[in-house]
Amino acid sequence: MVKNNDFYRLRCPICNRLYMNKDWVFLDELNTVIHQSCYKSTGLLNITDNGTYRYMIEKYDFFKELV
Ligand SMILES: [Zn+2]
Repeated sequence: MVKNNDFYRLRCPICNRLYMNKDWVFLDELNTVIHQSCYKSTGLLNITDNGTYRYMIEKYDFFKELV
C-alpha cells in the first residue's frame, strides 16, 4: 500500500544512497535507476530514459512491483 507522496525508496547501486524525489537519475536497459552523476563511472549499459527519481516512479509501473 502506498500513501500519498510516499514514493518507493530505492538505493543507487553505485553510491548505495537512497534516492530523493528530486534526484536526477538515468534508467538503464535493465530498468535499473542510477544517479546521473554516478552513471558516469560505469558507462556499461544503454540509457533508456532520464529525469528525476519521482518522474521515473510515476512513469513506470514496474517500480510498484518491487515492493
Ligand atoms: Zn548514486
